[in-house]
Amino acid sequence: QWIYLNGDYVTKENAKVSVYDHGFLYGDGIFEGIRIYNGNIFKCKEHLDRLYDSARSIMLDIPLSYEDMQAALVETIRRNGLRDGYIRLIVSRGPGNLGLDPKRCPSAWVVIIVEQLAIYPEEAYRSGLVSVSVSQRRNIPDALNPKIKSLNYLNNILVKIQANLAGVGEAIMLNAQGYVAEGSSDNIFIIKQGVVYTPPCYIGALEGITRAAIMELCARLGYKLKEEPFTLHDVYVADEVFFTGTAAEVIAVREVDGRMIGKGEAGPITTHLLEEFRKIVDVDGVK
Ligand code: PLP
Repeated sequence: QWIYLNGDYVTKENAKVSVYDHGFLYGDGIFEGIRIYNGNIFKCKEHLDRLYDSARSIMLDIPLSYEDMQAALVETIRRNGLRDGYIRLIVSRGPGNLGLDPKRCPSAWVVIIVEQLAIYPEEAYRSGLVSVSVSQRRNIPDALNPKIKSLNYLNNILVKIQANLAGVGEAIMLNAQGYVAEGSSDNIFIIKQGVVYTPPCYIGALEGITRAAIMELCARLGYKLKEEPFTLHDVYVADEVFFTGTAAEVIAVREVDGRMIGKGEAGPITTHLLEEFRKIVDVDGVK
């Protein structure tokens, strides 16, 4: 396995970062998780746009142009000989000293890891996940904007810990006002009487790229979609619930906080959206 590290390709054993790296010391940095389907980098432009926007927002200079970054992704995939997999692209503030001042970090570090990925068994896409809501609240936009895909994922990790304690794969996080925000690393959708709902990102959610792809698919397939705030009550009484994310794709939820959703399996619209999503994944991308 070859890992891109600041312009070099090194083996996994040699891919090392300094203990003075501010990504390590402070979570100061950003990242992307990207899929490769049949040799294509799915939604490459969207992921790079989000990465460069996150960088601009936190005043992080990415030492590679957009084109060079794309070329580095393509080359890392080529060297690893993967047709299907997952890319983790990380840009940290780089090594500095113990102070948190980013001025002490002369140059950002760029790491690209490419790996195999299988997060849920295929059967889970038919049967649906069991999920729970958790007490951990989403960062509100004026604290740390959830649009920034930062290395500071403690908020989401606390959700994941609560999900683990409950024995479920993904949990539902509310924002400080009690509106449904998202999962630990997935966006959320509900369906009621044929209408698809997802919370607007200002509620406290990442602007997910899979979320955007599903919204586009809804428009193309003629499903009415509303981006509006909703509560756990709306989730409990929904006909269908599903999560979206780069790793999870489109995964149905069959139970939330002990309430059965719909017939307790992946519902018809969720299943249709997943089928259509899988049709676009390897045509819509960068080779
Ligand atoms: N929400 C959070 C907090 C995430 O970390 C992710 C994963 O990247 C998502 C949602 C889903 O976003 P995407 O579809 O871009 O992977």
